[in-house]
Amino acid sequence: MEPQRERNRISEIIDKARSQGRKFLMELESKEVLEAYGIPITRELFAVSEDDAIKSAEEIGFPVVLKVYSPEIIHKSEIGGVIIGLKTVSEAREAYRKIIENVSVKKPEAKVLGILVQEMIPKGYEVIVGAVRDAQFGPVVMFGLGGVFTEVLKDVSFKLAPLSKKEALQMIKETKGHKVLEGFRGEKPADLDALAEVIIKVGRINTDLREVTEIDINPLIVHDRELIAVDARIVLS
Ligand code: ADP
Ligand code: MG
Repeated sequence: MEPQRERNRISEIIDKARSQGRKFLMELESKEVLEAYGIPITRELFAVSEDDAIKSAEEIGFPVVLKVYSPEIIHKSEIGGVIIGLKTVSEAREAYRKIIENVSVKKPEAKVLGILVQEMIPKGYEVIVGAVRDAQFGPVVMFGLGGVFTEVLKDVSFKLAPLSKKEALQMIKETKGHKVLEGFRGEKPADLDALAEVIIKVGRINTDLREVTEIDINPLIVHDRELIAVDARIVLS
C-alpha cells in the first residue's frame, strides 16, 4: 500500500461527495475507503440499465445480489431495494425490474442513479462495526452482532480509539451475544482475530480522517477463515 496515494484517493472521493452537496459517501465510495485500510469488500459493479446489470452479473459470476443505488435511499432493504441469491440471468432480470418497481411504489421521489451488482456472500455471522466522533472524547468504536442483537436487545459494546488488539477482542467478548460467534450445533466459529483487526481499522479510519464523523459497516459477514464488508456508509463532517 502506498499511504500517500491512498490518502489522495480518499480526499478525491470526499471532495466529489461534497461538490455534489452530499454529507455522506455512497456504498461504493465508503467501501473504497475501507479497502484502502485493508478491510475486505465485496466485488461489485455499478450498472445503469437492465442489460448492463446482466453483463455485470455475468462478469462477477452468479449468484449475485442487486441493490438500488440512490443518495436518497439509506435503508435499501426497507423499500425492497435489495434482492439476494440471484442464480441465473432470468432471476437477475426479474430482480432488476422488481427493484425499480419497488422504488417507484415506495419511494417515487428518490433519484435512482443505478443498480449495484454484487457478489453474493455465503451465509455467515453478520456483525456491525461502526465508529462515531464524539465531541468530547473523539472517535468511539462500536461493535455488535447483527439483527435482533443490536436492533432489539441493544447488545453493543463501545470503546475509545485507538484500540489495541486486546481491547478489540474485549469489545467482542463484552457483548452478550458473542457466544454465538464461537459456533454451536456444528457451526464453525467466527474468525475473531480477523474481526478484531477490522474493529481496530474502523477506529483508525475515524482517527486518521478528520472529515469523517461516522462509519457504519452493516453488515460485515464473518466466516471461520475470512470476513467481508457487504454494506457500508460513511458520514462526513
Ligand atoms: P440496507 O442495510 O441498506 O437495507 P444491505 O446492503 O445491508 O442494505 O442489505 C440488506 C441485507 O441483505 C444485509 O444485511 C445482508 O443480510 C444481505 N446482503 C446484502 N448484500 C449481500 C451480499 N453481497 N451477500 C450476501 N448477503 C447480502
Ligand atoms: Mg446494511
